[in-house]
Amino acid sequence: KIRVRYAPSPTGLLHIGNARTALFNYLYARHHGGDFIIRIEDTDRKRHVEDGERSQLDNLRWLGIDWDESPETHENYRQSERLSLYQTYIDDLLAAGKAYKSYKTEEEIALDRERQEAKGLPPVYISEYAGLTDEEIADYIAKREADGIVPTVRIRVPEASIYTWHDIVKGDIEFEGKNIGGDWVIQKRDGYPTYNFAVVVDDHDMQISHVIRGDDHIANTPKQLMIYEALGWTAPEFGHMTLIINSETGKKLSKRDTNTLQFIEDYRKKGYLPEAVFNFIALLGWNPGGEEEIFSQTQLVDLFDEKRLSKSPAAFDQKKLDWLDNDYIKNADLNKIFDLAKPFLEAANRLDEKSKHLVELYQPQMKSVDEIVPLTDLFYAEFPALSSAAKEVLETETAPIVIKAFKEKIENLADADFVKDNIFPLIKAVQKETGIKGKNLFMPIRIAVSGEMHGPELPDTIFLLGKEKVVAHLARFVK
Ligand code: GLU
Repeated sequence: KIRVRYAPSPTGLLHIGNARTALFNYLYARHHGGDFIIRIEDTDRKRHVEDGERSQLDNLRWLGIDWDESPETHENYRQSERLSLYQTYIDDLLAAGKAYKSYKTEEEIALDRERQEAKGLPPVYISEYAGLTDEEIADYIAKREADGIVPTVRIRVPEASIYTWHDIVKGDIEFEGKNIGGDWVIQKRDGYPTYNFAVVVDDHDMQISHVIRGDDHIANTPKQLMIYEALGWTAPEFGHMTLIINSETGKKLSKRDTNTLQFIEDYRKKGYLPEAVFNFIALLGWNPGGEEEIFSQTQLVDLFDEKRLSKSPAAFDQKKLDWLDNDYIKNADLNKIFDLAKPFLEAANRLDEKSKHLVELYQPQMKSVDEIVPLTDLFYAEFPALSSAAKEVLETETAPIVIKAFKEKIENLADADFVKDNIFPLIKAVQKETGIKGKNLFMPIRIAVSGEMHGPELPDTIFLLGKEKVVAHLARFVK
């Protein structure tokens, strides 16, 4: 049975890279009718963030991802709760002589490194037992124990070993044991297992069939294969997804890039639609072929094919995300967008009887729902400063004529007749009266009313502004 997992370390907010890992595992599981599991890898106590786990899960839920097993419903799905299990296998490896306690202090290890560096050698861990007799080893251990030195446990890297696997994304990969860097730590001095050890015990114990993760983990895979071998277990299949690059800089996406939003929380706070973000992430390093870019979650589950995971880096393009989100907002139900817009309007002190109409007016333009506030400035803030292009329009010979005529028509309209359907006919009447038409007719009116050259439907804008404001705006441009 296909069983895949997302195994976050609760060291911070859900980043787009991790969200992608979760999402592809989710799609893989759902496409094949397998299980999707969440396990929390919290063995790095130094990097632990309070609330990190909750924030990961909440943000995944927001994206529309669900799972079959997690610490919420299953016991011991956090590594910190599984220490006795790790200990069992560490004891097994110690008993089998495949691992040993290492009493070298950090200072001694650092000194070894310095010497190797001075000789231009790669840093390889040198076992303190090399060349010692059993008796000498026993003496050494007794002395170190007496000194109160707490050991780590290291696994012995078999000589001349070669680790190979067929990577779902990258194809055949081969790694020589001699490049691992020598015997490595599987249990730290604080008794916690290291990631590369715990992950194997967990993936085996949870019967994970496929490990799909970012290619920053590719160098860990040989170490993990070593543990599978040492414990006599069959390894799962591995797939390492390419890194994400910033489409503007062409470099690896970095948390310091200021031209992008990278935490799912950021999208959520700005009122992006989760469906759009899901769609966007699904296309980071994968595509179903063809030109189409808009896919519902159901379609993605249907179409997902691990063979189409890209070998080249995925480009993170904020503009594409905004384009997608705009498309989803445009096509969404007004009530839904209005509900999302309310908190933003409320915070800006702009929630009133016009709000829903304004949301409807600007819905086609929004790239994220928080934009409702700047978009409604015309209705609540100072009249905007005109661009030079707009000023040029107003300086044409015909503009003042049009504006003056339109202002008079609006003023003469009885308050009760100031309804949406009556506005367009007024503009037409100006055309008839002045003989000015097309752009020369509409543009000066639009600019005088809204201060902008582009915007939503003019009659709607005028109606929502209300008679008084429209007249006041027009008056600014009538001498
Ligand atoms: N806890 C690891 C991480 O957050 C998971 C690595 C894995 O999937 O094996 O990167």
